[in-house]
Amino acid sequence: PDTYRAGFAGDTFNTAWYLRRILPAQNTVSYLTAVGTDAMSQQMLNFMAGEGLDTAHVQRLQGRNVGLYLIQLAQGERSFAYWRSTSAARSLADDAAPLEAALAGADLAYLSGITLAILPEESRARLFVALARARDAGTKIAFDPNIRPALWPDAATLRQVITQMASGADIVLPSFDDEATHFGDASPADTARRYGTSGTPLVIVKNGPKPVVTWHEGRLDTHPVAAPTVQVVDTTAAGDSFNAGFLARMLAGDAINDSVLAGSALAARVIAGPGALVRTAIL
Ligand code: ADP
Repeated sequence: PDTYRAGFAGDTFNTAWYLRRILPAQNTVSYLTAVGTDAMSQQMLNFMAGEGLDTAHVQRLQGRNVGLYLIQLAQGERSFAYWRSTSAARSLADDAAPLEAALAGADLAYLSGITLAILPEESRARLFVALARARDAGTKIAFDPNIRPALWPDAATLRQVITQMASGADIVLPSFDDEATHFGDASPADTARRYGTSGTPLVIVKNGPKPVVTWHEGRLDTHPVAAPTVQVVDTTAAGDSFNAGFLARMLAGDAINDSVLAGSALAARVIAGPGALVRTAIL
């Protein structure tokens, strides 16, 4: 109590970190964001670079700072307080040029509902245009809705923007409990079908320890997840690491079934350790 330790994490960042650890060295994993020019921003950049992430597309904005959050533990349950309303990352899509530069020639672009929730409306539109162009040029777009109602102005905007983004993505990776709460889905199959029929070719619905349900071009399938090898310590980044494990295998051309297994095996090791970035989860 009352002693704090600083670390760097966050949903898309966690996925990038796991991807960097599991992809072959010849792949570049680049993180697109904006930070300030202050010492804490520099520390974050140093951390990213030190972990092997490409920071060439991180914008530096004078007078801005990184978002801050605090995790509190009560009876083993984590709760989050955020100070991010003026974070530099909210400006990551203020200009089209850095987006286009980051996406040029990429095999895969990955973003989440949090990425979209923190952006002003015009920036969101700019990002959609850049992603659509990249997709036309052959970049696969992967999206985890990662619904955080507190970050959205209202429920209708949340649903509209997430649905719009998903319909322009190649792969959508939602978590069933969020989708049931905010879209009223009765089952993971309903979630998969909803995104699938609105235009996403591949939908991967995560559901904690329960089976993953996939939709691929009209076909629904159920995949049991890997059992955690030891007791669950902390489920932070379960979904983020699943996505990394899954996407790494998809990028390598593996089948959906094998990719789901790889995602769930990584997530099972991540939840056996504390925090978001679990080094012992990497084999
Ligand atoms: P999120 O962290 O986004 O809420 P989930 O809780 O649905 O995502 O978990 C993502 C993935 O992590 C699941 O599909 C599963 O593979 C794995 N996972 C999560 N919780 C457990 C658990 N208790 N036992 C085994 N695997 C789990």
